[in-house]
Amino acid sequence: MDKLEHIGIAVKNLEKSNRLFTKLLGKPPYKSEDVPLEGVRTSFFDVGGVKIELLEAIRADSPIAKFIEKRGEGLHHLAFAVDPIEDKMKELSAEGFHLLSDQPKVGADNKMIVFLHPKATNHVLVELCTERLIGK
Ligand code: ZN
Repeated sequence: MDKLEHIGIAVKNLEKSNRLFTKLLGKPPYKSEDVPLEGVRTSFFDVGGVKIELLEAIRADSPIAKFIEKRGEGLHHLAFAVDPIEDKMKELSAEGFHLLSDQPKVGADNKMIVFLHPKATNHVLVELCTERLIGK
């Protein structure tokens, strides 16, 4: 893994949590973005190069809605930057980690992403991400 890229936090109300984290971190989010594929609305704060991603469900069948239903609001995932992502996926599969998809998917903040199954990672959901090249 190249670096901890961001920490994802599941929230019920993004607007409220944006206000809370703006107060906590002393700066507003630098972007807000919907990821229709995942059924989430996100906002991002930059804290010295590591980002905080707040995630709110925009559909009842969104993974974030299910997560909050089961476990409540809070820490959702750790995202590590890797490059190239395909090589790291192969490497981790060979080590016995389960990937939640065969191919990287389009994520927020101009990233291609893939999740590891939390069963094999001490129940911490781990995301691999890489910068998305336009047209790729
Ligand atoms: Zn993320």
